[in-house]
Amino acid sequence: MVHERATILTQAGNRTDPGTGAVSTPVYFSTSYAHPGLGESTGFDYTRTANPTRSVLEETLRELEKGDGAFACSSGMAAIHTVFGLFRSGEEVIVSRDLYGGTYRLFEEVLTRYGITFRYADLTDAAALESEMSERTKAVFFETPANPLMKEVNISKCAAVCKKHGIRLIVDNTFYTPLLQNPLEEGADIVIHSGTKYLGGHNDVLAGAIITKGEELTRIVRHLHNGIGATLSAMDSWLLLRGMKTLHLRMKQHEENAETIAEFLEGRDEVREVLYPGRGGMLSFRLTGEEQVPSFLEALNIITFAESLGGVESFITYPATQTHADIPEETRVEYGVDGCLLRFSVGIEDKNDLVDDLGAALLQSVRKST
Ligand SMILES: *Cc1c(COP(=O)(O)O)cnc(C)c1O
Repeated sequence: MVHERATILTQAGNRTDPGTGAVSTPVYFSTSYAHPGLGESTGFDYTRTANPTRSVLEETLRELEKGDGAFACSSGMAAIHTVFGLFRSGEEVIVSRDLYGGTYRLFEEVLTRYGITFRYADLTDAAALESEMSERTKAVFFETPANPLMKEVNISKCAAVCKKHGIRLIVDNTFYTPLLQNPLEEGADIVIHSGTKYLGGHNDVLAGAIITKGEELTRIVRHLHNGIGATLSAMDSWLLLRGMKTLHLRMKQHEENAETIAEFLEGRDEVREVLYPGRGGMLSFRLTGEEQVPSFLEALNIITFAESLGGVESFITYPATQTHADIPEETRVEYGVDGCLLRFSVGIEDKNDLVDDLGAALLQSVRKST
């Protein structure tokens, strides 16, 4: 991992308040800021437009993702919704089929009502992307690695296709974080984060972020961020910033634990398949039978059966009825999110304890189901 990023993260907010020298950024609850004179501003007027605590967070996010602008939002979904303010009725966006369920719901149940259409494709084949384009296509949106099958999409290759057609590339970088991947450097125009996950890291703050490349695009997104108003509160900005100070340490441990667990699961008869991209802290696996799932989940002691990911605590999610429940069953099963699939957000607990917990639950799962 790059040394500079560790320093950016650790030092985030330190001495940003010159009057006091505060090491931890003060939380500015004030919603309004006095004007020094007519036509003058301190840079802060009204908290939706800009807030001093949120600005420190946004500057940190901008630096980490090497963008030209960063905008903290009230959730990951709010960040995605804000970005889609770029498009209008009649325009189309190409999206990876493997997608966070909430994003799919926003696209299909909300944005289609505004006349924006979505075309789902397997973007792991960048060449195929080209054949999906039409004159209505205005952008490509994907997550990599995609949720929950952990397939990586080649950002540079997709970016080259997008550039050629003069359309925008939007990448949800929630799973890898800016430490493992910088989509803007690979040619993307916009990066999205659910800050609720790895950035916050402690399962105690809901937040989202947009990071943009290019002056014009940054100007437009700033306008949307303020205009739509789904901005992050001062307190939540502080919580996210505080969580981010240890992101580099957490990611290292998440990854180390995930590698060990992927290897362990590979060797087990109760497990049919392990999907781990070889980086990061997320993996998925399939049990040999759907009937094993209930007893497996019940037998876990340390690992929590819960929705969400990226926190210090290990979570196992059942995508079929949780994160991906809004995707029609036929579509879901067709691309591999079946009843045997479990998604594991590997935490930073001692890895031997995690292995023991999994091992005992796997034994229990076959004992109960046979
Ligand atoms: C959780 C998540 C979101 C949505 O973020 P919220 O903060 O829950 O609104 C978007 N994309 C991905 C990949 C996620 O995991």
